[in-house]
Amino acid sequence: TFTDQYAVFGHPISHSKSPRIQQLFAIQTGQNLEYTAQDVSPEQFSERVKAFFGDGGKGLNCTVPLKELAWQFADQLSERAKLAKAVNTLAVQADGSILGENTDGIGLVNDLTGNHQISLNSKRLLILGAGGASRGIIGPLLACHPASLIIVNRTAGKAETIAGEFAGIGNISSCVYDELPNQQFDLVINATSASLSAELPPLPDGLLAEHGSCYDLAYANQPTAFVKWGHTQQAVHSLDGLGMLVEQAAEAFFIWRGIRPQTADIIALLNNERQIHAN
Ligand code: NDP
Repeated sequence: TFTDQYAVFGHPISHSKSPRIQQLFAIQTGQNLEYTAQDVSPEQFSERVKAFFGDGGKGLNCTVPLKELAWQFADQLSERAKLAKAVNTLAVQADGSILGENTDGIGLVNDLTGNHQISLNSKRLLILGAGGASRGIIGPLLACHPASLIIVNRTAGKAETIAGEFAGIGNISSCVYDELPNQQFDLVINATSASLSAELPPLPDGLLAEHGSCYDLAYANQPTAFVKWGHTQQAVHSLDGLGMLVEQAAEAFFIWRGIRPQTADIIALLNNERQIHAN
């Protein structure tokens, strides 16, 4: 008998924690599967995906810079993947067709509301950045009925386009960084890739409302520049994206295996490991 094969495709991919996380889920739930990380460039994408599923592979995660290609590749799309125009999870259906799903947003919401009890209902949300990650999280955030969601981006046109596409499902608008002074938010989510180069978008003091929180989609062994900024602004929570990473992986595991893994112990384990790394 063959062991069911799963993988994450990305470029670069060597740093990926996904194989570790999926292996921990498999052990915890008693599932027999193999999950590898594979370096796949955009040029190779469709050939490699076809070969993977052609060889009997059951499911794929796709990460930077492949989420839009995965969206184009899928035979069917979930409603939220359709809107996001980005797919991070591919799964073989019973009829052999490939379903595309995006679990990033639900992963973020589960980390915020489930693991950290940060409520989104009636709150003022600000998203920094208008790339693929931003697209992936907006639908599930709007589904939590925030009072408002503003998306701010360096390149204004990209934020305007996204706000237009999601206008039908919630109170969403866009602005530029110069328009942030004198506005206040209960939750500021950093969906830019600035953290990856230790940079910080231009954020005014006083942006965070009293009792507000910060969330950086990026994660590292040390606190990111944005997480540190949150602490300087007296954020109640200033979190990075490790919890989201585990939660989006748990959703993908559920789509593939029909079993929902417990995430708390695994998030705690990964947090412990990076404290050891950082010291
Ligand atoms: P993209 O490259 O698609 O988008 C990057 C965005 O960041 C753009 O809006 C860009 O603005 C903006 N940006 C980059 N540098 C700066 C800067 N110095 N100042 C202001 N804005 C900046 O990236 P993704 O959307 O794919 O990923 C964004 C982040 O989310 C990454 O850090 C990624 O690791 C993280 N992520 C985490 C996940 C998790 O599970 N925790 C899941 C998915 C993503 P412009 O348009 O003007 O160029």
